[in-house]
Amino acid sequence: MTKQQILCLAKNAGADKCGIAPARIYEELLPILEKRSPTPFVKPDFAKRINPYLYLKDAKSVIVCLFKYREGDDKTVARYARGGDYHPYIKEKLKSICENLQGKHKILVDSGSLPEKHIAYLAGLGYFGKNNLLYSEGLGSYFNIGLILTDLELQPDTPLKRKCQQCDRCIKACPGGALGDGFCLEAEKCASYLTQKEEKLTEEQKEILKGNPYTLGCDICADVCPLNKEK
Ligand code: SF4
Ligand code: SF4
Repeated sequence: MTKQQILCLAKNAGADKCGIAPARIYEELLPILEKRSPTPFVKPDFAKRINPYLYLKDAKSVIVCLFKYREGDDKTVARYARGGDYHPYIKEKLKSICENLQGKHKILVDSGSLPEKHIAYLAGLGYFGKNNLLYSEGLGSYFNIGLILTDLELQPDTPLKRKCQQCDRCIKACPGGALGDGFCLEAEKCASYLTQKEEKLTEEQKEILKGNPYTLGCDICADVCPLNKEK
């Protein structure tokens, strides 16, 4: 099966973009993971975060698909949630790709702990901003990522060299001061995480949420970014 055939399958399934990343241990992420404070939803099990073989033993490649956020009328929630739960929607799309794939495969949509944005970056689909969001031409940062681990040996794409404008607007606008230089993101200060946190919030965290207009998620660092205006 050729890479071109897979890109066609992805397009027919409704993916806005598709690229190929290598399946390997992403050990380059270890220093960043160790530096960051643990997020509420990702257990600090670094092996699981960087090892695709734990999800598909014979994985050789990752088919990475981007799907732009679906539209929706509920402006009280962040953009990613306005079209409803994206997980089953994207899984269905990826299943339709897999029905035509040879070999073994495993679908992951925000379900494993693998670093989806980093893998999408390796697949040449975007570049990082200081807000830790991935930017893709034509989509900005407003998209979800679906992964298919496969044992097919496919030619990986080349990561983009482009960098964000380094304007720091995202860092200044963040209501919790969660962002810093060097891709620092303190999850316990991020309103997006806090709107989904099940444990009791501290007084400081309640104050952070007052600066966020959404009941679910937060789009502030995305919406102030000039890269989302040029898309
Ligand atoms: S707001 Fe500026 S610093 Fe932040 S990601 Fe966008 S371009 Fe980069
Ligand atoms: S999502 Fe909101 S709270 Fe989280 S880093 Fe971005 S601006 Fe800050």
